[in-house]
Amino acid sequence: MTARVLIVDDLLPNIKLLEARLSAEYFDVVSATNGPEALALCRDGRCDIVLLDVMMPGMDGFEVCTRLKSDPATMHLPVVMVTALDQPADRVRGLECGADDFLTKPVDELALIARVRSLTRLKIMLDELRARANTSANLGLSSRETNDGARGRILLVEDRPSSADRIVASMRDLHNIEIENHPQDALFRAAENNYELVIVSLNLTDFDALRLCSQLRSLERTRSVPILLLADVEDRPRILRGLDLGVNDYIVRPIDRNELIARVRTQLRRKRYADSLRDNVQAAIELAVVDALTGLNNRRFLETHLANALDQAAHKNRPLSLMILDIDHFKSVNDTYGHDAGDEVLKVFAQRIKRVLRGADLVCRLGGEEFVVVMPDTPLPVAARVAERVRAAVEGDKFPTDAAASRTIPVTTSIGLAERGDDANADALLRRADKALYASKAAGRNRVTAAAA
Ligand code: GH3
Ligand code: MG
Ligand code: MG
Repeated sequence: MTARVLIVDDLLPNIKLLEARLSAEYFDVVSATNGPEALALCRDGRCDIVLLDVMMPGMDGFEVCTRLKSDPATMHLPVVMVTALDQPADRVRGLECGADDFLTKPVDELALIARVRSLTRLKIMLDELRARANTSANLGLSSRETNDGARGRILLVEDRPSSADRIVASMRDLHNIEIENHPQDALFRAAENNYELVIVSLNLTDFDALRLCSQLRSLERTRSVPILLLADVEDRPRILRGLDLGVNDYIVRPIDRNELIARVRTQLRRKRYADSLRDNVQAAIELAVVDALTGLNNRRFLETHLANALDQAAHKNRPLSLMILDIDHFKSVNDTYGHDAGDEVLKVFAQRIKRVLRGADLVCRLGGEEFVVVMPDTPLPVAARVAERVRAAVEGDKFPTDAAASRTIPVTTSIGLAERGDDANADALLRRADKALYASKAAGRNRVTAAAA
């Protein structure tokens, strides 16, 4: 994927310079010479990342950045401030406006490329998570709304006590920060604890900090934890190497307290945002295939799973049986005890039938008070015994209405059974089981009927 970079600068020669460097690295480049023009391009979705000059007549870079970060349409665009001002205070102000990073003029070519590359990677990852999270539910979640204020859980990997103490002292009020002075243990510690940020000194004694960074990136459990490097000016080549390995940010010694705090906050915010997107993706995936009331799989899951199970059974020439269960006179349960009690019966029913089935059997709620159980490797006579066990388990004990009430509800279920034929057709199998179920109902309910093969 080629990222499109927007260069915003009031001076054309500056634009030309950056454009040449980025084009040489195969980035697409668009440009704007003032704030309003830049905002319009961003809103139209014309770029993936913004390089923003701070000093511009009219609307300055701080304001452009603030506006970009407060508009839901553009808040996800990474912004790099490019400025002649080399004061920590200005860097901090940029980060306060929501800028993702800072470059000073004259722009260091390698730093520029590494930075643009790493932010592009980040944006691709977040865009994809957002797209997946949005497919099922529109979450309307923004990177600003995620719990910004909470104390971060941070691991500091630093073997020089004086440096470690200074950093801890400067952040103790804001975050929970733990020190690890044995780099060899840092990886295990990071894998075992749920840190939101790992700060790594690039100058560990007798240990290559970049190796640790690369290990953090390759381990499943630590892959998404942000890494912030503490480096010396002369470490430049290793900082760049680190960014290539997936390090998220760096800060150069002597460390300015405010800059450190601002960079830490940016990393925590991104991490929390990405985590909440991931959680939402997970929830969306589960919602799509799980019935919320009973926790059983739903009809959609059954449809895919049954087709696969039938294919496999046909391929291996193994039997497969299926039962459909329908609770008897369930309408009158609702009518007599109320809809909530009906819901409770459905939940308990689900638990109860699961308890008497094998783990290999797939139990689904088809909808309403109808359930399906797919039983791989099970011929019809065996399935008939299982079905009878299920029927008896339902009838055996009355169902509770709720914890307080002593009222209990008698419940029975009718069951239809069928074994797969040679055609391996899911619909046909379900239809035969359904017909058998209907026969159970017609014959007086609370019984099992097996479809003729
Ligand atoms: P039969 O013995 O013939 O199956 O009679 P029945 O009353 O069980 O069958 P019917 O299909 O007429 O009624 C099913 C009832 O299940 C009607 C519907 O309101 C109720 N129902 C469907 N889904 C839910 C649910 O999620 N919760 C509750 N409480 N009731 C539900
Ligand atoms: Mg029913
Ligand atoms: Mg029904």
